[in-house]
Amino acid sequence: MNCIFCKIAAGEIPSFKVYEDDLVLAYLDINPFAKGHTLVIPKKHSEGLLDTDDETLAAVIQRVKKVAAHLKAKLGADGFNILQNNGEAAGQTVKHLHFHIVPRFGGASTEIAFANGKGDFGELEKLAAQIRIQG
Ligand code: 5GP
Ligand code: ZN
Repeated sequence: MNCIFCKIAAGEIPSFKVYEDDLVLAYLDINPFAKGHTLVIPKKHSEGLLDTDDETLAAVIQRVKKVAAHLKAKLGADGFNILQNNGEAAGQTVKHLHFHIVPRFGGASTEIAFANGKGDFGELEKLAAQIRIQG
Protein backbone atom coordinates (compact mmCIF):
# COMPACT_ATOMS: atom_id res chain seq x y z
CA MET A 1 0.00 0.00 0.00
CA ASN A 2 1.30 3.43 -0.86
CA CYS A 3 0.88 4.91 2.61
CA ILE A 4 3.70 7.00 4.05
CA PHE A 5 2.83 6.19 7.68
CA CYS A 6 2.68 2.43 6.91
CA LYS A 7 6.18 2.81 5.47
CA ILE A 8 7.32 4.61 8.62
CA ALA A 9 5.73 1.86 10.77
CA ALA A 10 7.55 -0.77 8.70
CA GLY A 11 10.86 1.08 9.05
CA GLU A 12 11.06 1.67 5.29
CA ILE A 13 11.10 5.43 5.87
CA PRO A 14 13.05 6.79 8.85
CA SER A 15 11.37 8.64 11.69
CA PHE A 16 12.41 10.47 14.83
CA LYS A 17 11.01 7.77 17.09
CA VAL A 18 9.67 8.63 20.53
CA TYR A 19 7.94 5.36 21.48
CA GLU A 20 7.27 1.95 19.95
CA ASP A 21 5.59 -1.29 20.93
CA ASP A 22 3.90 -4.15 19.06
CA LEU A 23 0.81 -2.15 18.08
CA VAL A 24 1.77 1.50 18.14
CA LEU A 25 4.50 3.88 17.03
CA ALA A 26 5.06 7.49 18.11
CA TYR A 27 7.45 9.87 16.36
CA LEU A 28 8.09 13.58 15.97
CA ASP A 29 6.12 15.47 13.35
CA ILE A 30 8.62 16.74 10.77
CA ASN A 31 6.83 20.11 10.58
CA PRO A 32 6.08 20.77 14.23
CA PHE A 33 3.47 23.15 15.61
CA ALA A 34 5.53 23.31 18.81
CA LYS A 35 8.58 21.67 20.40
CA GLY A 36 7.91 17.97 20.94
CA HIS A 37 4.95 17.77 18.50
CA THR A 38 4.49 14.00 18.26
CA LEU A 39 2.31 11.74 16.12
CA VAL A 40 0.93 8.48 17.54
CA ILE A 41 -0.20 5.85 15.01
CA PRO A 42 -1.36 2.24 15.01
CA LYS A 43 1.00 0.04 13.00
CA LYS A 44 -2.05 -1.54 11.37
CA HIS A 45 -3.42 0.67 8.61
CA SER A 46 -6.75 2.44 8.92
CA GLU A 47 -7.67 5.78 7.45
CA GLY A 48 -9.25 7.58 10.35
CA LEU A 49 -11.25 7.25 13.53
CA LEU A 50 -14.34 5.65 12.00
CA ASP A 51 -12.73 2.69 10.21
CA THR A 52 -10.44 1.76 13.11
CA ASP A 53 -11.47 -1.27 15.15
CA ASP A 54 -12.18 -0.59 18.82
CA GLU A 55 -9.36 -2.76 20.12
CA THR A 56 -6.77 -0.89 18.08
CA LEU A 57 -8.29 2.45 19.00
CA ALA A 58 -8.15 1.58 22.70
CA ALA A 59 -4.47 0.65 22.38
CA VAL A 60 -3.66 3.86 20.50
CA ILE A 61 -5.43 6.20 22.92
CA GLN A 62 -3.71 4.51 25.88
CA ARG A 63 -0.36 5.19 24.23
CA VAL A 64 -1.41 8.78 23.49
CA LYS A 65 -1.93 9.19 27.24
CA LYS A 66 1.39 7.55 28.07
CA VAL A 67 3.40 9.59 25.58
CA ALA A 68 1.60 12.86 26.46
CA ALA A 69 2.36 12.38 30.16
CA HIS A 70 5.97 11.62 29.32
CA LEU A 71 6.37 14.64 27.01
CA LYS A 72 4.77 16.98 29.53
CA ALA A 73 7.13 15.86 32.27
CA LYS A 74 10.25 15.59 30.15
CA LEU A 75 9.86 18.89 28.31
CA GLY A 76 8.30 20.81 31.18
CA ALA A 77 5.22 21.64 29.10
CA ASP A 78 2.41 23.51 30.82
CA GLY A 79 -0.26 21.67 28.82
CA PHE A 80 -0.87 19.91 25.53
CA ASN A 81 -3.41 19.60 22.71
CA ILE A 82 -4.57 16.31 21.22
CA LEU A 83 -5.65 16.71 17.58
CA GLN A 84 -7.03 14.05 15.28
CA ASN A 85 -8.22 15.09 11.82
CA ASN A 86 -10.66 13.05 9.72
CA GLY A 87 -11.07 13.77 6.03
CA GLU A 88 -9.76 16.49 3.75
CA ALA A 89 -12.48 18.85 4.90
CA ALA A 90 -11.00 18.61 8.39
CA GLY A 91 -7.46 19.17 7.16
CA GLN A 92 -6.37 15.51 7.14
CA THR A 93 -3.43 15.23 4.74
CA VAL A 94 -2.13 11.74 5.59
CA LYS A 95 -4.77 9.02 5.32
CA HIS A 96 -3.48 6.80 8.11
CA LEU A 97 -5.00 7.28 11.57
CA HIS A 98 -2.83 9.53 13.70
CA PHE A 99 -3.20 11.52 16.88
CA HIS A 100 -1.18 14.72 17.23
CA ILE A 101 0.20 15.51 20.67
CA VAL A 102 1.19 19.19 20.75
CA PRO A 103 2.96 20.27 23.96
CA ARG A 104 2.15 23.85 24.99
CA PHE A 105 4.36 26.23 26.92
CA GLY A 106 3.62 29.46 28.72
CA GLY A 107 0.50 31.17 29.88
CA ALA A 108 -3.15 30.36 29.33
CA SER A 109 -4.18 30.06 25.70
CA THR A 110 -7.21 28.60 24.04
CA GLU A 111 -5.83 29.24 20.58
CA ILE A 112 -4.84 26.25 18.46
CA ALA A 113 -2.41 27.28 15.75
CA PHE A 114 -2.58 25.03 12.70
CA ALA A 115 0.26 26.77 10.86
CA ASN A 116 3.18 24.35 10.80
CA GLY A 117 6.69 25.43 11.60
CA LYS A 118 9.53 24.20 9.44
CA GLY A 119 11.35 21.29 11.06
CA ASP A 120 15.13 21.31 11.52
CA PHE A 121 16.08 17.63 11.11
CA GLY A 122 19.27 17.94 13.21
CA GLU A 123 17.28 19.43 16.09
CA LEU A 124 14.49 16.85 15.69
CA GLU A 125 16.99 13.99 15.86
CA LYS A 126 18.51 15.36 19.07
CA LEU A 127 15.11 15.96 20.61
CA ALA A 128 13.84 12.47 19.77
CA ALA A 129 16.92 10.94 21.41
CA GLN A 130 16.37 13.13 24.46
CA ILE A 131 12.70 12.26 24.96
CA ARG A 132 12.58 8.65 23.69
CA ILE A 133 10.87 6.16 26.00
CA GLN A 134 12.98 3.05 26.27
CA GLY A 135 10.93 -0.12 25.75
P1 5GP B 1 -2.91 15.76 9.31
O1 5GP B 1 -3.19 17.15 8.81
O2 5GP B 1 -3.14 14.70 8.27
O3 5GP B 1 -3.62 15.50 10.60
O4 5GP B 1 -1.37 15.79 9.69
C1 5GP B 1 -0.38 15.08 9.03
C2 5GP B 1 0.92 15.45 9.71
O5 5GP B 1 1.90 14.54 9.27
C3 5GP B 1 1.43 16.87 9.37
O6 5GP B 1 1.53 17.62 10.57
C4 5GP B 1 2.77 16.62 8.70
O7 5GP B 1 3.74 17.56 9.11
C5 5GP B 1 3.13 15.22 9.16
N1 5GP B 1 3.92 14.45 8.19
C6 5GP B 1 3.71 14.33 6.86
N2 5GP B 1 4.65 13.52 6.30
C7 5GP B 1 5.45 13.12 7.33
C8 5GP B 1 6.60 12.28 7.40
O8 5GP B 1 7.08 11.72 6.41
N3 5GP B 1 7.17 12.09 8.62
C9 5GP B 1 6.68 12.70 9.75
N4 5GP B 1 7.31 12.47 10.91
N5 5GP B 1 5.59 13.50 9.73
C10 5GP B 1 4.99 13.71 8.53
ZN1 ZN C 1 -1.06 3.31 6.40
